[in-house]
Amino acid sequence: MRISRVATLAAVAALTLGVAACGGDDSDDAGTAPESKSFAAGTTMEKLNKAQKIIIGTKFDQPGFGLKGLDNKPAGFDVEIGKIIATELGIPESKIEYIETPSAVREEVLEQGKADIVVATYTINDKRKERIDFAGPYYVAGQHIMVKASDSSITGPDSFKAGGKKVCSVAGSTPAANIEKYLADKVAQLVVFDVYQKCVDALNGGQVDAVTTDNVILTGFIAKNEGKFKLAGQKFTDEPYGIGVKKGDTAFRDFINDTLEKIYADGRYAKAWTETAGKFDSAVPTGPSINRY
Ligand code: GLU
Repeated sequence: MRISRVATLAAVAALTLGVAACGGDDSDDAGTAPESKSFAAGTTMEKLNKAQKIIIGTKFDQPGFGLKGLDNKPAGFDVEIGKIIATELGIPESKIEYIETPSAVREEVLEQGKADIVVATYTINDKRKERIDFAGPYYVAGQHIMVKASDSSITGPDSFKAGGKKVCSVAGSTPAANIEKYLADKVAQLVVFDVYQKCVDALNGGQVDAVTTDNVILTGFIAKNEGKFKLAGQKFTDEPYGIGVKKGDTAFRDFINDTLEKIYADGRYAKAWTETAGKFDSAVPTGPSINRY
């Protein structure tokens, strides 16, 4: 496998131009008719409810959070959060369209209206808030390092300071930016792809020595690849996950924040965790306090 920054940028650009889509299909309508809802005129909630359709940007390659399975449908904690928001909008599951949103294109799909919400292990930060807004947080992850199970030479981010060891992350992600300060030579040591599965393949193939991203993403890959990988050291950042919406849509953000508080209380949040990421991490979160900035 040849890894280069040019290849990474090309892959990101390709995803930006032609975001893979998997649509809702009337033939497999999961269910019961949605409860009828009414929303204030002119709001995004009213628009989506009337259209009876929502486009959700999520990840397609992250076990536990957003992973597209053999049935071609993404599954995971982020997907469940997205489904709950659709339900609260009065939109049935069969009318959700999912588009793959790798880290580097998340702001762009919202700005361009290609997705109505992005639920994609998406850390809330000020730089991103210049372009979009976030509801949440609905979970707090932390950056961690994954290595081969047999490796005892990497014990945390400081292990990269001496140079030599290569670490892989994803373009446009906070972990790719955070790890830089631990590297002796960024060009030689940091490998970036568009999606995390490619980093996992590179670690497996020995082209890199480690993968860095959020603990919950790495835990998913460790569970899916039994015996091959392990976490090294401790988490070294906080990554509060938010739900991205178009910048300035305060009513929609408030609605999603209200929905999160409601599902923390009524058990749907804990159930969503237990049925997805909870299979790899049994510590059921209670739901962090919402930041109504
Ligand atoms: N939470 C981090 C971020 O938003 C890493 C995970 C990801 O790339 O989706 O950048």
